Formats: sequence, structure tokens, C-alpha cells
Amino acid sequence: MSGSLRIVAPGTPAGKHDHFDLLFGDKCLRLRDPRRFGAVLWTRGDVDRHPLLAHLGVEPLSSALTGARLHRLSRGLRIPVKQFLMDAKRVVGVGNIYASESLFRAGIEPRRRAGKISLEKYEKLVAAVKVTLRAAIRAGGSSLRDFVGSDGESGYFQNHALVYDRAGMPCRRCRTPIRRIVQGARATYFCPRCQS
Ligand SMILES: [Zn+2]
Repeated sequence: MSGSLRIVAPGTPAGKHDHFDLLFGDKCLRLRDPRRFGAVLWTRGDVDRHPLLAHLGVEPLSSALTGARLHRLSRGLRIPVKQFLMDAKRVVGVGNIYASESLFRAGIEPRRRAGKISLEKYEKLVAAVKVTLRAAIRAGGSSLRDFVGSDGESGYFQNHALVYDRAGMPCRRCRTPIRRIVQGARATYFCPRCQS
């Protein structure tokens, strides 16, 4: 969450929370991990079969993530679609900000049961996830207060968010005030008109 991976020149003195350097010739990949949530693991085996990775879902920007896949995985599920989308067993990397933003783009109410959403809507949602993540990458990552890109610059995707952190502010599409609710202890933002 608050850690970072950045590229520094080899020999750059380590700061207080810098725990690991990986050297590539004239470049050094440095792990800074103030809260110690991170880990560096060495394996000789198949990375995809590592116990920490084997149960993970598909990468969101890969061709493996399709509307049909989410539709199939969600049948019979009663959990809200936002929590379904954020579950790394189904798809990895769709964090809280991106889930709210993607659901807005797809016009889906975040509390709807995952198992009740149509294939057509899941196709819209997958397209929205990909657009949202690509926009965030272009903008240098989202900002969770102390997030920094590999070059140390703060991300600014959050400043351009469609709904995230905009409670009470007018929807960028229809001017209806954005609502904030809590789902699974995480804040969700949505437009009650565009996402009904
Ligand atoms: Zn709206």
C-alpha cells in the first residue's frame, strides 16, 4: 500500500525503509516498504504455481479477462458486484478506486448481486475496467496519499476520478450528487442516476 518500487542508480545510499535492491547492470530496482507489508521471494519453480500466486485470478489487462469469464464465475453468487470485482481469486489488481470508477463507466449499481448481472453488462464492465486501468497507468498510478511512481512522482489519477472521493459533488455526466456508501469496510462512490 504505502511501499514503492523505484529505479535508482546503483550505489544510491539506502533510506530508512529501503529493504531490498535488485541490480540490473547500471540500474537498481529498490524496494521501499515502510509498513512491511511487502515480501521478496526467491523461487526456482514455476512462478504461476507458487502457493502465494496459484490461487490468483487473471490479469485484468490480459485477454483472459472477458465478460464471459466474469459472467460464468458470478453465477449463483449473492455478493455485491463491487466486492466480486475486487476479489483477487477472480481478477487481480482491481483495487477500491478502480472498482468504483469501472462500475460508474459501465453504469452498474455497486450493490447489485454479482449473480444477477447479465453477460452484456459484464462485457461493458470488463471494457470499463481495461479503460480505467489504462488511464490510471498513463496518469502515473492512483494516489493513496503517499503512492509514488517508479520515478518518485506522486500519481494524480485520483484527481481526475469520475466518482471516487467525490461524495456530494455533481456527477460529471448528469450532475446528480455522488453518493458514498461502505461495502466490506471499503468506501464506494457511485452516481444513483447513472448507475441504477
Ligand atoms: Zn450521473
